[in-house]
Amino acid sequence: MKQIVLASGNAGKLAEFRAMLKDYNVLSPKDLNIEFDVDETGETFYENALIKAKALYEICKLPTIADDSGLCVDALGGAPGVFSARYSGGTDADNNTKLLRELSGKTERSAHFACCIVYYDGVRVIDGQGATYGKITEHADGVGGFGYDPIFLSDDLGKTFGAATESEKNSVSHRARALAALVDKLA
Ligand code: IMP
Repeated sequence: MKQIVLASGNAGKLAEFRAMLKDYNVLSPKDLNIEFDVDETGETFYENALIKAKALYEICKLPTIADDSGLCVDALGGAPGVFSARYSGGTDADNNTKLLRELSGKTERSAHFACCIVYYDGVRVIDGQGATYGKITEHADGVGGFGYDPIFLSDDLGKTFGAATESEKNSVSHRARALAALVDKLA
């Protein structure tokens, strides 16, 4: 079976990628005893995913995949975008508090999560893009998921990602859609 190394140590991501990349033996850096941490200095999700995929390839010389994702809020010109993880400089809860404050009093609250996944094998760069649309709520709802999930009301699900089950979220998520697009292109 072909091997592919995922540029993340996140167990949830690893399980999701393994479930969808059935033709591949998906390894984590830890499986190869690799310490992997790169600065995400790109200006787009694609650039960041490419930086990670290439950096990991240089270490392991095996095909790699890397993803980058974030929340884009229309009324804020697409922010926090690539800065989603670092938006407030604090925790996920701090990020949510800051975003709700920025949108305070605004009725235009549309937003989307975007994800880009890049495959790199030393020669070919193949990418898959995915997005999922919704609105930023006035208050947090639900304790599921992570990051901005409690304040993201999904158009597809009619509830926040925080109030959705994991399989409901995975059925419409930006990451699942990006991965499906990548799997199509790899095939
Ligand atoms: P990463 O691409 O996994 O590094 O995610 C970047 C940041 O975007 C996360 O730290 C979250 O703040 C946000 N984010 C990305 N995907 C999701 C999601 O599915 N739910 C909630 N927040 C997300």
